Amino acid sequence: MGIENLRARELNEACGVCGGFAEDQPLAFLTCFSLYALQHRGQESAGIAAGPGEGRKMWLKRGMGLVSDVFPDSADLKGIVCRLALGHVRYSYGEGGRSPENTQPLKLRYRHGELAIIHNGYLLNAGELREELECQGAIFQTDTDSELLAHMIARQGSAKLEEALAEVVPRLKGAYAFIVSDGHKVIGLRDGFGFRPLSVASLEGGGYFMASETCAFDTIGAEFIRDLEPGEMLVLDERGLHSRRIIDSPCSKLCVFEYIYFARPDSNLQGRNVHLVRRELGRQLAREHPVEADIVSGVPDSSIAAASGFAEEAGLPYEMGLVKNRYIGRTFIKPTQKMREEGVDIKLNPVRKIVEGKRVVLVDDSIVRGTTSVKLIKIMRRAGAREVHLRISSPPVKGSCYYGIDIPDAHELIAYNRRVEEIPSVTGADSIGYLSMERTVEAVGLPAEKLCRACFTGDYPVL
Ligand code: SF4
Repeated sequence: MGIENLRARELNEACGVCGGFAEDQPLAFLTCFSLYALQHRGQESAGIAAGPGEGRKMWLKRGMGLVSDVFPDSADLKGIVCRLALGHVRYSYGEGGRSPENTQPLKLRYRHGELAIIHNGYLLNAGELREELECQGAIFQTDTDSELLAHMIARQGSAKLEEALAEVVPRLKGAYAFIVSDGHKVIGLRDGFGFRPLSVASLEGGGYFMASETCAFDTIGAEFIRDLEPGEMLVLDERGLHSRRIIDSPCSKLCVFEYIYFARPDSNLQGRNVHLVRRELGRQLAREHPVEADIVSGVPDSSIAAASGFAEEAGLPYEMGLVKNRYIGRTFIKPTQKMREEGVDIKLNPVRKIVEGKRVVLVDDSIVRGTTSVKLIKIMRRAGAREVHLRISSPPVKGSCYYGIDIPDAHELIAYNRRVEEIPSVTGADSIGYLSMERTVEAVGLPAEKLCRACFTGDYPVL
């Protein structure tokens, strides 16, 4: 009996982080609300560290599951007396990734006091650094890069956290956004290319708050100030905000998939609203790959904006051809063998009255392995669609990601070593059209050199 992902999400993000510093604010409570806004970035575990509490120790609660599982009574958090807090939602992959000990924040004691650490991303040289530390006698209790950084801070020796970080962080090679606290201040860090997003906002009533996405600020009434720069260390404490560049930054390389798929539509990245970018991706797609059809439908949720842009540009009606059931857990077991074989999906259901007898343009944001596309085409045909034309609002994914996004190895990708014209015969679509890289960049509205596009182009930034 198979246990499978629901809409077998083919791409996955690796965590959401947030944290802030403020006097006289219910910071743990606000952090919990921000985590709700960041839940789409990871659903495996959630946690909050806040402090300093009684006895000057930091308070910590973390666990497996959704934010609502770990903090069922979020109002209780109002009572936690603190002036700083850090929050984390986790998506993990790889061996040991799903172990409860890897939930974050990590809270550790070292000779200068306590440390709480969270991160989003992936360190390419983690193995090397870990081995070096183990040879020096370090004992690791988790598989996380947060613990690795904690060991490096502890060994650096400085009692001043900023100084220790400025010394050790340049040794990290990878794509990351860290938030670290010693119970006196909260420090945000972005890697030298700025692959992973991190922004800062001011809190109503005083204080500052950082988060992976700006949608978290809206949830708590915080006012966006700016995105952290690549290579920047931003310190939040009782004196306000202090910034320092601690890593040389050759250029910015924000992951373009944040716009295409990961980020929430109500977030802004580098000043560009994600929903508007997705709609523009759809418009460009309609110009580049027009098709004779009756209706346009999007794959819920991340492709709806692109589908509406496609419909607008093509002058076709946008229809809800697929409905997503939001109330199914993260995994399910299909009830019968026949349903499993036929690829029946209980999370996505077609609206038969809409698609029956129609020529449907089905817009999806990306294709990775292609297994989801095969299933979607089957679903539409079973519901009576006369033709199904697949339109993808990004270019073919041809390579894996080395910067923390869970993309399978290249040989598992449908576009690997395959011409675009060959893909309809694999997916069962009547035709396919991918948005070109030029138009993708145009829709995002940032210079191409400021975006990481490596899994599409094969041009991987050298760290
Ligand atoms: Fe994003 Fe692809 Fe670059 Fe990875 S390789 S950071 S998924 S654009």
